[in-house]
Amino acid sequence: MKKQRLLTKSRFKQALDCPTKLYYTKKSEYENTQDSDPFLESLAQGGFQVEELARMYFPDGIAILGEDWNYQSLADKTQELLLQENITIFEAAFLINDLFIRVDILHKQGNNIRLIEVKDKSINATSHNSFLNKNGGMGGWTSYLYDVAFQKYVMQLCYPDWKISCELNLANKDAVASVNGLNQLFRITQNSDLRTGIIKPDSLTIDDLGKPILAYININQEIEHIHTNNPLNPDKSFEELINFYLHHYKMDIKIFTPIGHHCKGCEFHTTPTPSQKSGFHECWTHQLNLSEIKIDSPKTYEVNNFRGSKKLMNEEEKFFMHQLTENDLSLKLEAGKISTSERQLIQIEKENNNDTTPHIEIEGLRNEINSWVYPLNFIDFETSAVAIPFTKGRTPYEQTAFQFSHHIVYEDGRIEHFSEYLNTSPGEFPNFDFIRALKKSLESNNGSIFRYHNHENTIVNAIYKQLLNSNEPDTEELLEFIKSISHNTGNSSSTWSGERDMIDLWKVVKDYYYDPYTKGSNSIKSVLPAALNSSAFLQNKYSKPIKDINLTSKNFPDDFTFLKMEENQIINPYKILPPLFNNWTDEQLEQTISELDEIANGGAALVAYAKLQYQEMSSKERNEIKKGLLKYCELDTLAMVMIYEYFMEVIN
Ligand code: SF4
Repeated sequence: MKKQRLLTKSRFKQALDCPTKLYYTKKSEYENTQDSDPFLESLAQGGFQVEELARMYFPDGIAILGEDWNYQSLADKTQELLLQENITIFEAAFLINDLFIRVDILHKQGNNIRLIEVKDKSINATSHNSFLNKNGGMGGWTSYLYDVAFQKYVMQLCYPDWKISCELNLANKDAVASVNGLNQLFRITQNSDLRTGIIKPDSLTIDDLGKPILAYININQEIEHIHTNNPLNPDKSFEELINFYLHHYKMDIKIFTPIGHHCKGCEFHTTPTPSQKSGFHECWTHQLNLSEIKIDSPKTYEVNNFRGSKKLMNEEEKFFMHQLTENDLSLKLEAGKISTSERQLIQIEKENNNDTTPHIEIEGLRNEINSWVYPLNFIDFETSAVAIPFTKGRTPYEQTAFQFSHHIVYEDGRIEHFSEYLNTSPGEFPNFDFIRALKKSLESNNGSIFRYHNHENTIVNAIYKQLLNSNEPDTEELLEFIKSISHNTGNSSSTWSGERDMIDLWKVVKDYYYDPYTKGSNSIKSVLPAALNSSAFLQNKYSKPIKDINLTSKNFPDDFTFLKMEENQIINPYKILPPLFNNWTDEQLEQTISELDEIANGGAALVAYAKLQYQEMSSKERNEIKKGLLKYCELDTLAMVMIYEYFMEVIN
């Protein structure tokens, strides 16, 4: 049977992003990078939990079940249920004129319909007024609102007499969870076909959920605005836009979209092979008449933090770095430092001259390092912010700080993994114990403290606010401690800049160091391999076991080596972190409930923390995941130490 080519709501949204994508979508010959992105997958998991929570408030709701592809059958089942005067349906399906939608929650009372779209996004419901700004724009909410506008359009075609009211059901940042363990009532699991599902206790009722943390936000005004003015594409009416997309998708005709800055992050950007095409390469070769290899040249949008790239690409057709000159940047120099624009110029010039050597402002870096006070303290936090709080008293997306690692570098070169903290006890809000442990650890000396980028400062500011609303006996001391090691962020009620305000190693990198190996990224996951690649000192030192390099570790054995080579290439130390459940038998693995296999990035650490909230997890499995978290966080602070050691090598 030939597959029906229907314009579904996800295809409609994809077309809004770039209409050409309609041609590539769901074709096996075009790979889609989003299909295998673990970070997107973990985000999606939070969405499933919120959807399940939202359904709880409609206990009589009936879900439309069936194979996703069997559109007609799903629509028929919905239609049958809709014969009832009053009903609530989850995933109600509508099919008309080759348009297909499913509605998260449909609440019908006669002809009055509530169309409820559930999102794991958050809002301050008390102060919210409208998503429309003065110019008729809708900012970051545009795609969600267009999604609902499409749903309402299709539903109204099916049932012209219905009075449809549209709502978003969102996590309310003004609401406080009144029960413990709310998040874990909606357990994420993978079905046998590897699709995410949610398991909740059979006996669960609304009463078990405490006070609601989701809010219903009426969006009728916004949907009316889209239907009438189609602000994203005012040349066409909303209906014309849908028909335009539908016609091209149905007939499998590619809509030509000029390439440009919007191609950054295109999910069809893959490496073409004889069996797999890359939609990105197809678009770019077609428009520029260049070979696929030439298309792979570095693009203008890859210049780090370059605001001018959009204009240059979209208006002047300067798509590649080799087309850029100094005149394209507004060059501003800073004495003794690499300014943002100078850094961009260095990146462009090194790229264009095939120069792979790092650029370092040695004198400036030396002066910076000379201002540091030994012993040096390197800290890193692992934190979580989820839509459905883990513990009572917390709000959606409130920061939970569950882990830190602390390395100390002494003036004589000794490096100590000095302390660490990890609290994964289900139902415990860890932040106050976390900050107490951090205080104890950092007050062991008076040396400089280092973080990598803003996260640690943001988190201690969040804990500051949480403490102000707490009854902790040592609140005053903890507040003073936070002030001593941080500065206030923009939304803080008071102003401070601590005498030991954490030094941002990311900023040190940005101010004094550029390595083409990083391709312009200053993230620690890019800077560490670059430093290891350039530094004879690091290569020599870290290819020896821990016991031989004046280093202590709390989580790795004495004979562990952080640096390994493969075919003369250094392996990124994060890639050699031991997998979880190594040497577990199949029988033991079958009894695990976490569905984790490694913790080698921040996203995996978040997922691990969430899974550790499962009360019923065996202590053996719990310990295994904790060990993985501890190793990962230790490596994060050791990575900062390695970058410091590289800089010391450079200035001496
Ligand atoms: S490469 Fe650009 S034009 Fe082509 S599908 Fe992707 S975003 Fe659209």
